[in-house]
Amino acid sequence: MSKFFVSKFDTLEPYVPGEQPQDMSYVKLNTNESPFDPPKEVVPVIRDAARNIRLYSDPESQELRQAIADYYGLEPENVMATNGSDEALNYAFMAFCDAEHPIVFPEITYGFYPVIANLNGIPYETKSLRDDFTIDTRDYEGIGKNICIANPNAPTGIALSLEEIEQIVRTNPDNIIIIDEAYVDFGARSCVPLLYKYDNLLVTQTFSKSRSLAGGRLGFIMGSKDLIADLNTLRNASNPYNVNRMTAKAGIVTLRENTYFKNSCQAIQFNRRYTRTALEKLGFEVLPSSANFLFVRSDRIGGEELYKELKERGVLIRHFSDPKIADWNRVTIGTKVQMDTFLSKVEEIFKKQDEERAAEEAHKARRIR
Ligand code: PMP
Repeated sequence: MSKFFVSKFDTLEPYVPGEQPQDMSYVKLNTNESPFDPPKEVVPVIRDAARNIRLYSDPESQELRQAIADYYGLEPENVMATNGSDEALNYAFMAFCDAEHPIVFPEITYGFYPVIANLNGIPYETKSLRDDFTIDTRDYEGIGKNICIANPNAPTGIALSLEEIEQIVRTNPDNIIIIDEAYVDFGARSCVPLLYKYDNLLVTQTFSKSRSLAGGRLGFIMGSKDLIADLNTLRNASNPYNVNRMTAKAGIVTLRENTYFKNSCQAIQFNRRYTRTALEKLGFEVLPSSANFLFVRSDRIGGEELYKELKERGVLIRHFSDPKIADWNRVTIGTKVQMDTFLSKVEEIFKKQDEERAAEEAHKARRIR
């Protein structure tokens, strides 16, 4: 830390993103990207948009917001486009939370929430999950505090129903409820329809996962016109050209290619089922996931060891150091070929373990004799 860094950030712990090796030599199942390219129309529109790269992008992202609004039956004033949904979450925390308006989120959830709370000097409270990693919605009903919930939750993949979300929104009418739907397209129900009924709800989504644009950095947040206007005040006070012109065009095309989108979500769901069954056969405990990842644990091997052994074999998965989930790993669902590689490496690791154990036993038996 330099001597110039202001003291209020002395203890700020930044978010630790998953590894992003730049050489593509790994089977990359660690940061929940799509294994599929975006629709083929995307690269030509990016190239076309790049012709005008000397000009600033549209600070209102008008065309993109219109496309998102049309997709969800909203108006453009209900939508703000952002540089990834992380940016939307940061603005939402910044706009509606402070020392008098703390925020509540699950104890095990997306690690970015405590980071942005700390960054903005916002006190936060966490609610533990049940033993089976589900969220107990009663912890959030009528609590009179701002709330942020990822649905499906990460890294568990477990989703709440629309009714459960509504109950939380309805019983906290004087507080802001942020629902982070980064993974919603893989099997949970979006709570966007609740936006017609409730003015205290904000929903974030991203193009990073189901729409194959993680590197383009595109997210958005939806809510009442008043809430979105407040968020725009902050955006225009910090980064008015937050969505670049290539990414905005890519987003519009991706929304248009809806069949492609549906097919790739279905392929992920299929591969998720396939991987889950195979892992259960290998003795893993696998949480029921509505996302593009599985949260898994084995009695045979610790979470960190499995992560390291797989990395040595060219497969990256995610391990979190938080002691409450240190036995677990999060595995992104990729193509069938990628999942087969992952599964065969897991089998190889287990086989090596068995051989080592057998050799050890034989050695012990020789010593006893
Ligand atoms: N929410 C959750 C739950 C996530 O896992 C992620 C991805 N790290 C994000 C939001 C943010 O993704 P992005 O900024 O790429 O939209």
